[in-house]
Amino acid sequence: MPKKKDRTFAAKLAHETRTIRVETCKVCGKEKQSIVHLACSCGESGAWRPQRRRVKVCDCNRKEVYG
Ligand SMILES: [Zn+2]
Repeated sequence: MPKKKDRTFAAKLAHETRTIRVETCKVCGKEKQSIVHLACSCGESGAWRPQRRRVKVCDCNRKEVYG
């Protein structure tokens, strides 16, 4: 019964796929790139505070993120 060995190999493959963390957008079908986006959050007080946000970019929101 070689089934047990096959399952172990598949589990290893699945783990490696998770480690790479490539996400594909269901809308545009492109790979999502994980980037750190620096956004200016200018509040009503007028203080400029840069905000770091980790966002995932694909064709759907590329224009929003890069301006
Ligand atoms: Zn998309």
